[in-house]
Amino acid sequence: MRFLADGMLGRLSKWLVLLGFDARCVGWKGEADAALLEIAQKEGRVFLTRDANIPEVKGLRKVVVRPQGLEEQLKFVLEAVGVKARREKLFSRCTACNVELAPVSREEALPLVPPLVRGLETPFFRCPACAKLYWNGTHTSNTVARLEKMGIFQ
Ligand SMILES: [Zn+2]
Repeated sequence: MRFLADGMLGRLSKWLVLLGFDARCVGWKGEADAALLEIAQKEGRVFLTRDANIPEVKGLRKVVVRPQGLEEQLKFVLEAVGVKARREKLFSRCTACNVELAPVSREEALPLVPPLVRGLETPFFRCPACAKLYWNGTHTSNTVARLEKMGIFQ
């Protein structure tokens, strides 16, 4: 399931990526709606928008995201498209590039991470596009706790 979010839904898009979905957010540079719809159609993405006036396009799936809060938006979108968030897909993509992360050996990662991280029992991953390193720490456990509280994994 792939998504294209309009510029009003950047935060939602980021959280979809965090959950392991292929999600792009465009439109902050003021692209015309028609251009966004074309990208969504070409890339086979569900178009997420807050604008109820976006025209229907044949063959394009569109979700008008009505809820305000992030939590409600996430639930709303997943329910609308009928997919479930899967725990094992969490943190599998770079939140900056929307690219799948690749595992990196501990030996390779350790010299590149802050000293405090070196003591953590965690696998390491790297974004093949921007080279950012990812690991499990308090930030990830906080996110997991937040998502579990939301009831996002069912
Ligand atoms: Zn990246």
